Amino acid sequence: HHHHHQPHVAILPCPGMGHLIPHLELAKHLCTFHGFQVTFFVYSTEASAAQSRYLDAHTFPETLHIFHLPPRNISPFVTDSTDIQTRISIIIRESLHDIESVVVNSTTTNDSPINVLVVDFFTTDAFDIAAKVGIPKYIFFCPAADLFPFMMYLPTLDRQVDGEFIDLKEPIKIPGCKRPIQIDDLVEPVRNRKIEGYKWFLHHAARFPLANGILLNTCQDLEPTIIRALGEDPILQQLGTPRVYPVGPLVKPSFEEVKSEYLTWMNEQPNDSVLFISFGSGGTLSAEQMTELAWGLELSQQRFIWVVRKPVEADASGTFFSVGNEQNNPDEYLPDGFLSRTQGRGLVIPTWAPQVEILSHSSIGGFLTHCGWNSTLESIRHGVPMIAWPLYAEQRGNAALLEEEIGVAVRVRFKRENGVVGREKIERLVRLVMEDEGNNDDDDEGKKGLRGRVKELQKLVIEAVDEGGSSYNALSEVAKEWKASVNGGINLKQV
Ligand code: UDP
Repeated sequence: HHHHHQPHVAILPCPGMGHLIPHLELAKHLCTFHGFQVTFFVYSTEASAAQSRYLDAHTFPETLHIFHLPPRNISPFVTDSTDIQTRISIIIRESLHDIESVVVNSTTTNDSPINVLVVDFFTTDAFDIAAKVGIPKYIFFCPAADLFPFMMYLPTLDRQVDGEFIDLKEPIKIPGCKRPIQIDDLVEPVRNRKIEGYKWFLHHAARFPLANGILLNTCQDLEPTIIRALGEDPILQQLGTPRVYPVGPLVKPSFEEVKSEYLTWMNEQPNDSVLFISFGSGGTLSAEQMTELAWGLELSQQRFIWVVRKPVEADASGTFFSVGNEQNNPDEYLPDGFLSRTQGRGLVIPTWAPQVEILSHSSIGGFLTHCGWNSTLESIRHGVPMIAWPLYAEQRGNAALLEEEIGVAVRVRFKRENGVVGREKIERLVRLVMEDEGNNDDDDEGKKGLRGRVKELQKLVIEAVDEGGSSYNALSEVAKEWKASVNGGINLKQV
């Protein structure tokens, strides 16, 4: 009956693969290394095929329990043009009752009541459930920490600024942060203050001070100045910034099946010679942009693996809720003859690829990415320099962080919002990252190229999450506090 006093955490991510993946890693770490029992919520409402395949491919620790929330009808509240933040927030709102039942039931009928609630940054409405049953509530903030001070400051900005943020003439200074935010890099939901998505974004940001603490999916080596600012800046303190714990990077491990055809091909390529191209779980390009990218790749004469999706015109987050569901025949939308002309040099994978397995292969030497934070962390974790091609959400902010602060990417510059990048420019960027000799070692001035810098960071981030590393210790510290709160201040021996 050893489960009796085992501390029990409930984890509630938002819908979407980019949220499920890091939250699931957090859950596995808590079970495997810190002796917790975890109830992990997943949504059936608008669930993608990729989600069920991902869960099915896992073997979970014995103490990790997946709770499938029943499907809820959200159609009365959304239309085809409803933005992502609103859709996510509504799915969660319609599931709150089900979540509450699980939490409340565990405290009344089960011999292992839920003692702590960990939510995602768009799931703060569930704080009310924690308050009701009297348990502490934490946020696992899974984007870059870079976004966090902006969100803490947003309620203030909302009061101070009239009109649209995107019409401001100067970059926005955020307390504690050395790089002001360029207007072009503002996170998507604040680019139009009239949409419902802005109101939801502000709503969740304003609730951050209610959390007992914030777990960050980053580490001291990646974002030292932001982490320091969050702990020390007087204005951020005054705004009620909870204590932060950098516990990352918690990244997807390698376990997905790789088709033997892909593996054989990768094994035949020289080290660091292949560019991997993927836009995350949701990213899609317009037909015109897709054509330019195909030509750019072909002209660069570099080896590549490209995860392709059917073009979507107006919406760069075209498959956020549906990845893996769609029909996909690359022949129909790639330029005529592209597949045959690049045969042997390039591999085209429709819809979804085992990304971590690919990034960790020795043949991969660059990653053209939409800069989703998980993809970014995976690239650093496997020592791969990036071409930053941001599409939506906070990806432009991530691109700036990667290029200007962390120094592991070159950024694609778009002439205007939703502008198309031409083939010659793509060819140049691809060659720059893949061919640059200065990339491989220190150059004459002793300055590290992208590849040198990312390999150095790779070592540091692996150490950070390993036993005794800064992130491992930060998670141990939270774990200790949670256990102490379960037992009225007395620490249990680790199970
Ligand atoms: N992913 C994958 N194969 C794909 C596309 C995505 O394994 O074809 C994984 C990727 O490794 C990452 C996650 O899905 O862990 C995407 O998260 P990210 O934050 O990069 O972007 P988002 O999808 O949230 O925009």
